[in-house]
Amino acid sequence: MRKVLLTGDRPTGQLHLGHFVGSLRNRVALQNSGDYDCFVMIADVQALTDNFKSPQKVRDNVYEVALDYLAVGLDPKKTTIFIQSLIPALAELTIYYMNLVTVARLQRNPTVKTEIQSKGFGKALPTGFLVYPISQAADITFCKAHVVPVGEDQLPMIEQTREIVRTFNSIYGDVLVEPEALIPSDEKSRRLPGITGNDTKMSKSLNNGIYLADDLDTLRAKVRQMYTDPGHLKVSDPGKIEGNTVFTYLDVFATDTAYVAELKEHYQRGGLGDVKVKGYLLEVLDGILAPIRQRRAEYAKDPAAVYEVLKEGTAYANEVAAATLAEVRAAMKIDYFG
Ligand code: ATP
Ligand code: MG
Repeated sequence: MRKVLLTGDRPTGQLHLGHFVGSLRNRVALQNSGDYDCFVMIADVQALTDNFKSPQKVRDNVYEVALDYLAVGLDPKKTTIFIQSLIPALAELTIYYMNLVTVARLQRNPTVKTEIQSKGFGKALPTGFLVYPISQAADITFCKAHVVPVGEDQLPMIEQTREIVRTFNSIYGDVLVEPEALIPSDEKSRRLPGITGNDTKMSKSLNNGIYLADDLDTLRAKVRQMYTDPGHLKVSDPGKIEGNTVFTYLDVFATDTAYVAELKEHYQRGGLGDVKVKGYLLEVLDGILAPIRQRRAEYAKDPAAVYEVLKEGTAYANEVAAATLAEVRAAMKIDYFG
């Protein structure tokens, strides 16, 4: 039996370089390996947990994310691309799984903790946001996924799913599959920082991203703003590499590692200005983004075709979900009429 792959993104904005290195690149490679049944979900229900007052934003970004998928090379002939809210079985599974997780366990989730802080919920934390790791377990298990290609911030979610699967199977019988996270082999790609500095991950919600759809002028302006070494005032001064976001990006994106090593040495010695290093980074990034940008513009000419991809993918995902749900209901003894 072929293995199953599932992953997804929240339609809270367009996709950025963090998504590209954290997950998109891996999933396109695995799709093309032919070894997996691939499912990629646009997580609009999850996006609404912290954007429930902005339904139009979420709706618009479902389309934008779909365009990004096609632009990076997800192929609807090989990958089922679908919309979370249109799979009612996911909501049903979430309700059943809620019994298997304590509130204390949810409150301990380090990623959720960080997000609660950065989103400034205070005492107004929506219940739906706190329980999103449970709904994510439904997303992963509905198609019995074996692997989930994600960035590092998602590891606690996969762990939570594994716990739910083990608990479910031990109580109701062996129905669900325990998934494994697949994170990038290169450590720096697991959590790409935003342009404002290495402390914060690039995130749609934090306005610190370089988007796959950014045009060359926008890209140039963002690279110019990027955080370097604040103590590196004159070109002749020695500069720091550690914590210098421009060099972090070069480590992730530049393939000419010998040249990057030379730049680093020169920068630390003094005599190499930020403008020059940023000029090289711009060249490297545009080399990656220009073809993606072009393909995106092509797909954007026919929005109806993009929606058709989502419609077909969603119909197939519903078939798969119905089969799993029937097994789950039987195992839980709630299949009253057969
Ligand atoms: P939001 O701010 O709305 O949560 P996001 O930018 O965190 O958006 P998600 O849709 O939550 O993006 O994440 C989608 C996938 O991309 C996940 O697998 C996540 O781990 C990965 N990812 C997101 N940001 C990064 C990043 N900066 N570096 C590496 N991977 C990332
Ligand atoms: Mg996120």
